[in-house]
Amino acid sequence: MEYSDHFVYRGNQLYAEDCSVADLAKKYGTPLYIYSHDSLKQAFLNYDTNLAVPHTICYSVKANSNLAVLQLMASLGSGFDIVSKGELARVVAAGGDPSKVVYSGVGKRDDEIRYALEKGIYCFNAESKMELKTISDVAVSMNLKAPVALRVNPDVDPHTHHHIATGLKTSKFGVAWEDVLNVYEYASSLPGLQIKGVDCHIGSQIASLSPFAEMAEKIRTLAVTLKERYGIEFIDVGGGLGINYDNDGVPATADYMKLLESYFKDLGLRLVLEPGRSVVGNAGILVTRVQYLKQGASNFIIVDAGMNDMIRPALYSAWMNISEVDRSGASSAVKSTVVGPICESSDKLGEDRLLAVKQGDLLVQFSAGAYGFSMSSNYNSRPRAAEVMVKGDRDFEIRTRETVEDLWRGEHLL
Ligand SMILES: *Cc1c(COP(=O)(O)O)cnc(C)c1O
Repeated sequence: MEYSDHFVYRGNQLYAEDCSVADLAKKYGTPLYIYSHDSLKQAFLNYDTNLAVPHTICYSVKANSNLAVLQLMASLGSGFDIVSKGELARVVAAGGDPSKVVYSGVGKRDDEIRYALEKGIYCFNAESKMELKTISDVAVSMNLKAPVALRVNPDVDPHTHHHIATGLKTSKFGVAWEDVLNVYEYASSLPGLQIKGVDCHIGSQIASLSPFAEMAEKIRTLAVTLKERYGIEFIDVGGGLGINYDNDGVPATADYMKLLESYFKDLGLRLVLEPGRSVVGNAGILVTRVQYLKQGASNFIIVDAGMNDMIRPALYSAWMNISEVDRSGASSAVKSTVVGPICESSDKLGEDRLLAVKQGDLLVQFSAGAYGFSMSSNYNSRPRAAEVMVKGDRDFEIRTRETVEDLWRGEHLL
């Protein structure tokens, strides 16, 4: 199965654009993240060129925060959705425009708010009265008015994994629907705030349009009221569009854009979108080398990428396709579980996969561009993987593999 036009087999050999994946693995070592420049660009343009309403696409940095990815997005005119000072610093370092940044997240600290105000971001998406008060206080201390929107919780079930559903009543995210108008009134009473918009984000890996339609219906009505009362200028509909990991049958980005148009075209408001996964997810792969085979009650393929490199299967029971980089032996495939070297039973990349490999062969995990490297850690004192971006037949090392010395940077003996 192939997930994009950018990672395809030529004969039995996997290519990333025009680069041989086996050659890249030889050059940079494994585990290795590889991203396709054209795939990233295309996924962004699928949003930007299909939406006939004034808009800002704010790529969600947490999905993949590599500087080169941010730089590419910035060069295409993207704004950014951030959730920390560190992410804003990355955007600035990559040449992104702070005036196209929206700041999400439930727990912004004073110093983070101050930094964002200094940089002149587009808007804070605030989630509680207490947060509004804090943003106002910091802004007043700087003689500024902070641009704010409220992240509202429309109580929509996105029908996704419970760990990544965020728009339900019971979620920690957003202002409860029945309190929204109250909290806006409170915001309007604070001296350091300027009310600019309304925001929501109902979840991630959403595989059908109906939750988005339900959300749009509710937000539309609310936005009309807020425009009347406070003169808001934008609606931020968040991110969340799913990608194909298996044959999930997710909607095309263009169809989602049509849906947004149908609900919001006539309101005279800017649309802000915060896509993450659907921009980078299928633009990346993780390449790993087979260390050992262990046969018994189950067949295990032990590889050199673990849950510290890619935590999605362990954290969300996510299913991601795994295949051989060289498929010439595929006829002798046996059902196997692909596991990493980490000392945890949940350290699996995939269960019950038909694979034909011997020691030293390469495997590829597809759809690894989002929440892959950005969620990676040094658990088990493993240096984090290298990242490479390919463009045509050229490859660029966009993050050098960590060394063991990197592991204890900042640590001190007594
Ligand atoms: C994570 C997140 C996104 C991006 O979600 P995707 O599912 O990757 O598109 C957008 N907005 C907010 C507030 C988020 O927390």
